Parts: sequence; structure tokens; C-alpha cells
Amino acid sequence: MKEIRFENVWKSYGKTEVVKGLNLTIKEGERLILLGPSGCGKSTTLRMIAGLEDVTSGDLYMSGRKVNDVPSGQRDVAMVFQNYALYPHMNVVDNITYGLRVQKVPKEEIAARLEAALEMLKLKGYENRLPKDLSGGQRQRVALARAVVKKADYFLLDEPLSNLDAQLRVSARKELVKIHELYRQTIVYVTHDQIEAMTVGDRIALMNEGKLQMLDTPENVYHRPANIFTAKFIGSPPTNVVDVDFEEGAVMIGRQPFHLSPAWIKQLEQSGADRLAFGIRPEHLEIYHTPEENALQGTVKYVENQGSSYGVYVDLHGHEMIALSEEKHWAEGEMVYVRPAMSHIHLFDRETTNSIGYPKELG
Ligand code: ADP
Ligand code: MG
Repeated sequence: MKEIRFENVWKSYGKTEVVKGLNLTIKEGERLILLGPSGCGKSTTLRMIAGLEDVTSGDLYMSGRKVNDVPSGQRDVAMVFQNYALYPHMNVVDNITYGLRVQKVPKEEIAARLEAALEMLKLKGYENRLPKDLSGGQRQRVALARAVVKKADYFLLDEPLSNLDAQLRVSARKELVKIHELYRQTIVYVTHDQIEAMTVGDRIALMNEGKLQMLDTPENVYHRPANIFTAKFIGSPPTNVVDVDFEEGAVMIGRQPFHLSPAWIKQLEQSGADRLAFGIRPEHLEIYHTPEENALQGTVKYVENQGSSYGVYVDLHGHEMIALSEEKHWAEGEMVYVRPAMSHIHLFDRETTNSIGYPKELG
């Protein structure tokens, strides 16, 4: 099995703990995204897989074998770095094939792999150029091609698209998924960009401060966040999260009650959680000009044009929430009414910051 398994892995530099007790299994053939804010330990985790960093404690397994002491060259990995790390004095062909020549792969085999990679990554016609005579997007494709021709079991990518402009990033994402569908290597892909994580990932491992926050499909990371950090990190603008009290079937948001459905009340009682936080995504907070049943009254503080919609910042007697609306006629100072969509609310235990879970009825 081309599987990677971290068992209680810690990584420290001197006294600084960077990865803290990581337990994570990356399945054969999947595209696993390591996502998280800058400095949370993503690159360090990837570099431990590559064998470029030692594991301080705990065990790392690849293909069923403990690799803590196995050198990088014996791990069957291909890596794409953020800065591409191309050889400046070599042309495109030599950059792509250098590793294969060092490994003494037969000439005909090298030629065949090169041809396929040039074709797939649209590098035909650029064979003899030096990196300095290529655009950022082309350099990035050369770096990808160089990794692809290795036909390694494990494909490791560290923010491979971060130097590209937005348009190129979209097409590069698609290329990457196509390559993967062809070769089905086990991919570990580091990014801090949640859109990239959502579009490329089979599963997302979200990290913060060296700890795994959630490991699940993009759908579940978005719709069923395991904790407050996940709810706030995924989505833009971020999920509204406010501290609330629970009284007589309602959560109190700035002294106003929002009545929960019977299914949510049952979920809450079963969880045993005492101190609560309430979450709702801006796209799931309905906003009205006139009073509505179970809606909370507030005042518009600020309206932000988001392109396809407007972000309306509403003050709910001391709690601020953002609602996304396709309508643009919201005026600063206007009294408005907001209602969280019942099937999209989130409740968290404030002590642990973990989700209290979701009613079965929601599926
Ligand atoms: P990410 O890739 O998520 O942005 P990194 O894994 O690169 O984060 O780094 C995680 C933390 O470890 C950062 O605070 C960084 O400063 C620290 N770090 C990384 N490499 C070293 C090193 N060689 N020596 C000391 N600290 C390091
Ligand atoms: Mg990094």
C-alpha cells in the first residue's frame, strides 16, 4: 500500500515545537491537502515525508515501512517546491530529465517519459529554453514535469501554484488533477489557499499551530466543521461565531432569542455542552428589510461589494455578523432583520471549541 502514516509525530527545532503529536493516515492514490495558516507546520510536515527533515519523536510509515531513518533517496518521492528550484544553466529538457539520467534510466524510456510530459504540460516548442527565458507559468510546468517523469509513488507539492497569477492558477489546478487521474500517485499538496484546497483535494487536513484540526472531505470541512477554528478558517468572509446562552429553546444572541428547531434542541441536550458558541456562514444568514418570524433585529454598519454579492455588516446589539446578499439596497444605519438558516447553523462547546455535532435529520 502506498500509504503514509504519522503516529504521534512531533517535530521541534531546539525548544520550539512545530508539529505537535500528529496522527494522520494519507491513503494510497488520494490527493490529500495540507491546509492552514502560514507558519502552522505544513512545509515541515511535508519535508518529514520527503526525508528532508528528521522526525523528533513518534513514527512515520510509508508503504508499510517505518521510514524515520530512511534517507530521502530511498522513499520514492517526487517533490515540487514553491520556488520551483530549476537548474538555471540547464534548458527545459535537461531540467526535466536530469534526475532520470542520474538514476541511469534507459535512454528510450527517458525519451518516452519526456515526450509524454512535454505534451501533457504544454511545453512543446520550449525544449531548448533556459528557465530565465520562460514565464512563471512555464517554469512552474517544467517543475511539475520534472516531478511527473520520476513516476514516484509519492508526489509532494509545497505551494506549487503560489507564484502564479489567478488565471494561470485555475488552469494549473486542472492540469494537476488531470496528471493525477492518469498516474494515481499518492499526492500530498501543501497550500494556505482554501479555494485551492477545496478544488484539488479529495480530503483536507487542516492544521493550526502544529496540530491537526480536522481531516475530512472538502464538503464536510465546509458544512460540518469539527471546531471553531475550522469554521472560521474555511469560507470567505469567515463564519460568524458568537458566544451565546441557551434559554427556553432559544440561543440568546445579544439579548435576542433565536429559537432552535426541536432537532437542534435534542442535539444540544444530548451533547451536555454548557457554555456555547453559535456559528452561521454569511451566505446562510438571511437578511430582510422588514420583521420576519424568528429573525433578529440589527443595524447595518457597513456594506462591502463582493462582486457577485454584497457583504452586509450588521450590529446585533453588540455582536457583529456579516450577511451575504445579492441585493445591493442596504444603507448604513438602516434597521434590518437577520435570520440564520436553521439547516445551516453550527453550535460549539465553548470549553473545548469543538462542534456539538449535527442532528441526524440534517443527513
Ligand atoms: P508553514 O509551511 O505552515 O508556513 P513551516 O512548516 O514552514 O510552516 O514552519 C512552521 C514553524 O516552524 C514556523 O514558525 C517556522 O518559523 C518554524 N521553522 C521552520 N523551519 C525551521 C528551522 N529550520 N529552524 C527553526 N524554526 C523553523
Ligand atoms: Mg510552507
